[in-house]
Amino acid sequence: MAHHPITHGRAGLNRRTILATGLLGTMAGFTHRPAAASETPPFRYEVTRSDTEWKARLTPAEYRILREGGTELPASSPLWQEDRDGTYCCRGCDLLIYSAAWKVSVPKGWAFFRHSERDAVLTGIDGPVPSYGMSPDDDTTMIEAHCRRCGSHLGHVLLVEGSVLHCINGTSLRFTPA
Ligand SMILES: [Zn+2]
Repeated sequence: MAHHPITHGRAGLNRRTILATGLLGTMAGFTHRPAAASETPPFRYEVTRSDTEWKARLTPAEYRILREGGTELPASSPLWQEDRDGTYCCRGCDLLIYSAAWKVSVPKGWAFFRHSERDAVLTGIDGPVPSYGMSPDDDTTMIEAHCRRCGSHLGHVLLVEGSVLHCINGTSLRFTPA
């Protein structure tokens, strides 16, 4: 990503063009230019911890799900049946992720939500990178959901009985009744 050949090519051309047209002196004092794509710093989660720190604050079962992308057994967390008003925060960093207002009762044993709080969830790809109908592997690809602040795995975004829902491990969340 950081070494996109087209970006480098364009940057080189720009520099040559500037040198050739004598604009370099004019440009030298202009420091607030936008950063080129190759200068964009790599994405970093706001909350980062060492593996040792994660293991110290999570149970082995929580670690397997939040940090290794595991999935809890259906109905193993009581949150799948939780129907009180309240909030659901990330177990890894306490960021508010879901509100009970958007919880959906689905009898499959995990916690389902129509959507997250704004800017709370990032997505990734679980399984082979999808080829959108060009490969039978598409059936095994899922949209993974994780906390935008600490990167902890939450669950998946799935089509459930005709609705796109967040299917979330109760283990990844901490519920606080209103
Ligand atoms: Zn988090």
